[in-house]
This record gives sequence, C-alpha cells and structure tokens, in this order.
Amino acid sequence: MRRFLPRFRRPPDATPALLTRKGNIGSMADTRQVIILGSGTAGLTAAIYAARANLAPLLFEGAHPGGQLTITTDVENYPGFEEAILGPDLMKRMRAQAARFGTELITAPAESVNLKASPFEVASHGKTYRSRALIIATGAVAKLLGISSEAKLMGHGVSACATCDGYFFRNQRVLVVGGGDTAMEEANFLTKFASHVTVIHRRDELRASKIMQERAIANPKISFLWDSIVEEVLDSGEGKVTGVKVQNLKTGHTTVVPAEGLFIGIGHQPNTALFEGQLELDPNGYIRTFGGTRTSVPGVFAGGDVQDSVYRQAVTAAGTGCMAALDAERYLEELKHASNTPSPAAATAGGTKRA
Ligand SMILES: Cc1cc2nc3c(=O)[nH]c(=O)nc-3n(C[C@H](O)[C@H](O)[C@H](O)COP(=O)(O)OP(=O)(O)OC[C@H]3O[C@@H](n4cnc5c(N)ncnc54)[C@H](O)[C@@H]3O)c2cc1C
Repeated sequence: MRRFLPRFRRPPDATPALLTRKGNIGSMADTRQVIILGSGTAGLTAAIYAARANLAPLLFEGAHPGGQLTITTDVENYPGFEEAILGPDLMKRMRAQAARFGTELITAPAESVNLKASPFEVASHGKTYRSRALIIATGAVAKLLGISSEAKLMGHGVSACATCDGYFFRNQRVLVVGGGDTAMEEANFLTKFASHVTVIHRRDELRASKIMQERAIANPKISFLWDSIVEEVLDSGEGKVTGVKVQNLKTGHTTVVPAEGLFIGIGHQPNTALFEGQLELDPNGYIRTFGGTRTSVPGVFAGGDVQDSVYRQAVTAAGTGCMAALDAERYLEELKHASNTPSPAAATAGGTKRA
C-alpha cells in the first residue's frame, strides 16, 4: 500500500534579509537560534538538519565554499551514488538541499567570534551576528607541497587521501611524500592496491612512531627514497600523473621516478585559529568534543574534520554535522524550557500570592 507522508512546507521566507545593520550588533530580537560556520559536508549537513527543525540557520560558507571535496574528482565512497559522483557536484547538491529547506547562506568567512557570553557573536565583513547556539564545521586543510603541477593534477593522480583514492590505483605504482605517521599509514594502506609504493622523504630518517616505521620498513611492497624532495609532478601536459621529478638534497641530482599516483602525506591543519583561547583544543589544534559534539563552551558544537583527526571522511563529517545540529536543537529546547520554568523562589512567591 502506498503511504502518503506529510510534505515538508518551506518556511514563509526562505531567504530572509540580513538581520543586522552594517557595523552594528542587532538587538536581542535579532539573535539567531543557530549560526553554522563552514560549508563542507559537516556544515551543510548540520544546516539541512537545523533548517528542517525550523531553526532558520545562518551559514557562513568561508573562503572555500563546498570544502575539501571540491578539490577532488570522483567520490566513490559516499553512500547513495552507485556510480561515482564528482566532489564539486556532490557539494553543489548538498548546498542546494540546505538552501531548499531555508538555510541562509553567506559566502564569506567568519573573521572573529566571541564565545565568552551567550548569545555568541560572529563578525564578518563589518557586521556582527548573534546566535544562541553555534555549530563549528570549519574543517581542515590537507597540507600540500605548494607546487603548481601538484595543483593541476590534484584529482588526476595526485591525492591527499589514501582511504579515499587508494582504490583507483590497483596494480599501479604510487609515491607517498612524507616521513611521519600520516605518510606511513598511507603507504601501508596503499600496498593493498598498488603494485609498489615508494616513500619520498626529505630527511634520512623517519619522524613516524617506532611501530609505524617498523611496519612500513618490513613491508616488502614499500621502498624509500631518502633526502629527496618532489620538484615537479609529471605530466601536467598529459593531464595525468606519469611520474615525479625528484631532487636529492645531499647531491643536488635530479631524477625522474615513474609512477601513476602521488599521495601527499604530510598532515592536516585544522581551521581553528579563530577559536584559540576560547575553546579547548587538543595539542594538534583540533577542537575537543565531549559526549558527541559538545565543546568546552555550552551552546557551541563542533562537527567534521575540525574535531576529527582520525577518520577524516565526507560521510563521517556529514554524520557529526548531523549530530551537531541535533545536539544544538536539544540545547535550544533546554534553554527554552529553563527560561519558561519559574525558579523555586519565584514559584514559592507565586504560591504565596495565590493563597
Ligand atoms: C583531495 C581530497 C580528496 C578527498 N576525497 C574523499 C573521498 O573520496 N571520500 C571521502 O569520504 N572523503 C574524501 N576526502 C575527505 C573529505 O573531503 C573531508 O573529510 C570532508 O570534506 C570534511 O568535511 P568538513 O565539512 O568537516 O570540512 P571541509 O570540507 O574541510 O570544509 C570546511 C569548510 O569550512 C569553511 N571555513 C573555514 N574557515 C571558516 C571560517 N572562518 N568561517 C566560515 N567558514 C569557514 C571552508 O570554507 C569550508 O567550506 C578528501 C579530501 C581531500 C583533500
């Protein structure tokens, strides 16, 4: 039997005008229920949930609308897409879904935040916005080499995520740049697919933990190129990776190492500079979360890569983005309940009056 479900009704004004005047802080009546920082999978998922809970979220997209997935090509591990979907297409669809339910999007970064008192304040482009709950989904940035051929071939043989892209390199030769735990983990993981993995490291010893080093060194499919840096990724002209030009820092000699894939494993930088001194961060700068997505400040929640140095996947970011919206919704309900509940003293006073 066909079931008829109630249709979602769009809020009367899905894209309300900004509530604050230029340079001013809005009145208490202008205070938002929830502001979301970030438009990667975490922020947009949080927006979809918050909008569908009638919280009229305001979302700052930041300097990179769509987040990290916009710099990759095929995404094959995001559920729901039997065939691969291009990273930028997935993010476009997620953004449209968030907008459809009434999320107001501002394509700008939050320049500063004040989390010392509630409502919280977010400043951007000379305006200050206030909200009772704040969801932080500012993500992280994969550290890259910063050479132009790397950027040109990103998603075309160059990657910063072995879990995401290793599968594309079955029986092919791949290179991993780095000497820390990230690089060793990526190299070991890639041997499941690649015919051979060469680790390129600028020093003559690894920085990785002993256990990770031992695993990589003992792996017969991994070899090392010491004291070496990547000068150029070949071949931008062909639109795919055919190898890299490597310089030996001790001899100055340059050689070409043929390969079909290049993985940059030199770590990630969480986007948390804005919150330093206001939120508890871990030693690597990730936001610490407690019992879900709560941060050290009540009413401030964090989802996605900004609080996750372990999984760093689109689907886990979406998952914690959803959790952050649900946690924010519950927090706002509790706030409302607390403000409607008379204090014991007021209740007693009220009781005396009635008697
Ligand atoms: C090359 C590459 C390929 C990948 N491929 C895959 C894959 O195939 N499958 C997969 O599951 N995962 C993949 N990943 C990982 C995936 O992209 C991330 O796990 C995911 O994007 C994290 O989402 P996020 O929302 O937490 O943060 P991000 O995607 O990092 O987004 C952060 C957002 O915050 C915004 N922002 C930053 N600072 C501010 C500010 N001050 N104010 C407002 N906004 C701000 C940015 O503009 C951005 O929109 C890949 C990553 C890379 C780098």
